[in-house]
Amino acid sequence: MLVDMHLHEKRFSTDSFISLEEIVEIAKGKGLDAVCITDHDSMELRDFAAAYSKKVNFPIFVGVEYFSLQGDITAWGIDSFPDARIDAQDFIDQVNRAGGFCVSCHPFRNNKRGLEDNLRRVKGLHGVEVLNGSADMEANRTALRYCRELGMKAIGASDAHTTGQVGKYVTWLPEKVTTLPDFVDQLHACHTRPAIWNGSGYDVVDFF
Ligand SMILES: [Zn+2]
Repeated sequence: MLVDMHLHEKRFSTDSFISLEEIVEIAKGKGLDAVCITDHDSMELRDFAAAYSKKVNFPIFVGVEYFSLQGDITAWGIDSFPDARIDAQDFIDQVNRAGGFCVSCHPFRNNKRGLEDNLRRVKGLHGVEVLNGSADMEANRTALRYCRELGMKAIGASDAHTTGQVGKYVTWLPEKVTTLPDFVDQLHACHTRPAIWNGSGYDVVDFF
């Protein structure tokens, strides 16, 4: 399956201009099998997303983009997250205790919100965004190098805040799943690969 693993929806991400309805329409048009909503320090879209997902018969997995003291981390399969900024390691430990899955977002983007070299220090992180739509290619290639060095899962995601960015980069997974628990299980169990929108479909890549 192909899934965009990092999207911001305007109801709870004040810096986003896209509605869930637009995200799903674009995702379907590009042939995606699911989308993730990872708002900034918010999972408040959960109930609305669950109802809308059912209505349009399209999987929507709500996670969070949590701003730890060392940078942003996306996570799924947790019921709650700290209401204050805490150490990345403490947040990662919480995610692991809940059986969730967590990813370092745009670790080398030049906005001071990536984990950068903390990637080498934290324990228990599962994935790295090696293709993030808001980071430049140099930053993405550095992320890929760290991801390989550390043996983490390679994640692709648009980090879209506007319609044109939705689905720019996505993640390939071997099986199609429709529920969040199955999605988290598969992320833990399977090899993930990033994929790039080429204008008419997706190129699943290992190098770029
Ligand atoms: Zn983001």
